[in-house]
Amino acid sequence: MEKVVIIGAGPCGLLLAHYLLRRGDRYQVEIYERLGDPTKVALSDSRTIPYSLNERGLGALRPIEGLEEAMQTAGVENWKIVRHKAKGKIQLLPRRQQATVDIDRIRVVKTLLSSLVAMAEGSGRLKLHFNYKCIGVDFPRQTLLLESVSPEATAELQPLLVHYDRLVGADGARSTVRSQFLKTQSFDFEQTRYRSCYKTLFFPSKNDETGYELQPQGFHVWQPEEGITLIAGPQQSGGYVGVIFAPRNRQDILNFQSLTQVKEFFRQYFPEASLLLTDTEAEALVKRPISSQLKIRCSRYHHEDRVLLIGDAAHAVGSSATGQGCNAALEDAQIFARLLDEWEDSWEIALAKFTEERQPDAHALGELDGNIIPISQILFAEFILRERWAKIAHRWFPQLVAPPLRELMNSNTPYAEILNKYRRWVAKVKASNLKFD
Ligand SMILES: Cc1cc2nc3c(=O)[nH]c(=O)nc-3n(C[C@H](O)[C@H](O)[C@H](O)COP(=O)(O)OP(=O)(O)OC[C@H]3O[C@@H](n4cnc5c(N)ncnc54)[C@H](O)[C@@H]3O)c2cc1C
Repeated sequence: MEKVVIIGAGPCGLLLAHYLLRRGDRYQVEIYERLGDPTKVALSDSRTIPYSLNERGLGALRPIEGLEEAMQTAGVENWKIVRHKAKGKIQLLPRRQQATVDIDRIRVVKTLLSSLVAMAEGSGRLKLHFNYKCIGVDFPRQTLLLESVSPEATAELQPLLVHYDRLVGADGARSTVRSQFLKTQSFDFEQTRYRSCYKTLFFPSKNDETGYELQPQGFHVWQPEEGITLIAGPQQSGGYVGVIFAPRNRQDILNFQSLTQVKEFFRQYFPEASLLLTDTEAEALVKRPISSQLKIRCSRYHHEDRVLLIGDAAHAVGSSATGQGCNAALEDAQIFARLLDEWEDSWEIALAKFTEERQPDAHALGELDGNIIPISQILFAEFILRERWAKIAHRWFPQLVAPPLRELMNSNTPYAEILNKYRRWVAKVKASNLKFD
């Protein structure tokens, strides 16, 4: 039995573990995760983010019995985007073709984890280690160094040395496994910091005192000023998980010093959301850190026949209103599993094929991300018109006119194909968005 060590129990690492454990007695899977067990952390204490899972991500769960249904049950089916405009006006952007599932990251991880544990129970083929951070990798020796970051860990505790037969770096945009690739020959890597930073927040859907309520079953977006955005996805619990974005060169506006400052900020930029923000949450926002996102581009996703980079570790993109990173990460796991099928578990071939097959799409995603929806309000109006026109024209002339861009992004059409169809629009948005840097 081969020992596969996965670093990172995020959506991608956990889904890949599912796929590996379904391959009979061939693999023993050991997962090391820097954070604590998500089933033991309250949502309000976590730094979760709202996801919209589309056909790409949901389709990657489908081959595993019950997983897509479990995710749908844990999330909320969403048929529209609600754009909040000035003076309380709203614009509805329906998702007529395909609903997405709105769910926060912690629930995605918990759902994948609980079904993984249930599936592997009693087999002895799954070992989960939370609060273990990978701090070093030795490719020639096939070993990893892991340090306990548990709150109970003492300074005297020695790092753990772990041997692997195969190693999977599913450790996100700031991957430690990937940093070892930099020491190998002919590996090129680009990292770009996004022009915006963000803070996450939670709020209820209704203010019980005033009766104010957000339109249900929608993903809400406020963009009062170019570069300043609040997005909020409905959650199974009834409330919303949201993210406030601000340009990095104005990040001070998110650096709240007091509850009053938070409330003033919300009244100024997001008056409707301010009606829902509780004092407890406003206080939590003062303490919550400002985060930033990275775009990652690598020249390969494997090392020899032993190591795989997958998900954000291989090709992270920002959230930039198209919400693809998690969907693409889940799709990665499904693609790698298919390659193991096709090549009868020859990692030597499957790894090389993964880079070959996945890279054009990952690079195309990097190009699409941030360059689909314009920041400029004028160009945004053009985008909406184009999407409506494409919807009608595609119905009449399917060979000549591509489906709307947003619809394609939410389907499982390969990203390289989407970029091919929309190259001119993407170039136009890119040129326009650069002016906001
Ligand atoms: C604000 C925001 C909104 C987003 N919205 C969407 C959306 O709507 N739809 C969508 O598809 N995507 C969205 N994304 C992107 C999405 O978050 C990522 O693409 C997705 O989480 C990638 O999954 P992953 O498993 O590859 O990596 P991650 O989710 O980053 O998981 C990596 C895991 O590895 C662990 N780890 C890291 N380093 C180590 C180490 N050294 N040792 C041990 N463990 C380690 C981390 O703790 C983490 O649990 C959004 C991102 C942001 C920031």
